[in-house]
Amino acid sequence: MGRTGIRVSRLCFGSLTLSPLQANLCVKEGAGLIERAMERGVNFLDTAELYDNYEYIKEAMKGKPRDRLVLATKTYAYTGEMAKESLKKALNETGLGYIDIFMLHEQESGLTLKGHHEAIEYFLKAREKGYIRAFGVSTHHVECVRAALEWDEIQVIHPIVNLRGLGIMDGSVDDMLEAVKAARDRGKGIYAMKPLGGGNLIRNFRECLEFVLGIPHIDSIAIGMQCDQELEANLAMFEGRPVDTETEAALSARERRLLIEPWCEGCGSCVSACRQGALYLSDGKAHVNRDRCILCGYCAANCGNFYIKVV
Ligand code: SF4
Ligand code: SF4
Repeated sequence: MGRTGIRVSRLCFGSLTLSPLQANLCVKEGAGLIERAMERGVNFLDTAELYDNYEYIKEAMKGKPRDRLVLATKTYAYTGEMAKESLKKALNETGLGYIDIFMLHEQESGLTLKGHHEAIEYFLKAREKGYIRAFGVSTHHVECVRAALEWDEIQVIHPIVNLRGLGIMDGSVDDMLEAVKAARDRGKGIYAMKPLGGGNLIRNFRECLEFVLGIPHIDSIAIGMQCDQELEANLAMFEGRPVDTETEAALSARERRLLIEPWCEGCGSCVSACRQGALYLSDGKAHVNRDRCILCGYCAANCGNFYIKVV
């Protein structure tokens, strides 16, 4: 992973999909899937405080040596105190003695990075003390990847990359790849997110994965998985083996969508949580613009009534 000294599998287990925000697997089921991925050589897992799934990781790691898993997580913390709480929560709830990669979640530009300087300073001290091994940022913005070039503190970048450029907020996929290459050339570790556009591009599963796998300056690719069929298909693609025709057909037919219950009360809390600008209020209810929605499910975390979710 760049110059961090951390070695990761090319396939990264994206855990948002199994978490309460999406498939909501029970802990035993989710942990079992993680363990089966680990048995097949996947040593890298991506999560976030928002995903609320540290318990699954703790269960999957029970009885295993700590170095079997490289764990990356993310936080929205911007003050030192908030960063401290995030790190404490991650350590306590995963039961792991350290976190491999701690990132600021959904950074946008040099300005947002500056606005998070207190949290950054905290994480750098935590790195010195060995509580984290590397510091990084996740982003949907080309501008943030470009800004990160000027920050030696940022060792890892987790950008959105997919064939169609879905979810990139300020440019094309070519713009993103140009910035990513420059960052990789500076020694940053790069692991891409949402190669299938959050599930929107699942019909083009093969084409999408071939596209990201063909990018040489990406160290690893996080793909959300919630069942063995998805795990098997991803492993086959990453190992250059043919994907079983039935499996590929089943996956291509599996479409995800955002469900907003008709009894939504129109409070607007989910609307402000969506950084893609995909939600709006009309007639006293939330509505989604499907062209902008990348099915991340982040809005679901903001509805206390659970009236909005990815299904
Ligand atoms: S947060 Fe829930 S209740 Fe409020 S607008 Fe969104 S879906 Fe409706
Ligand atoms: S509407 Fe919800 S699922 Fe869609 S992009 Fe916005 S936060 Fe993500």
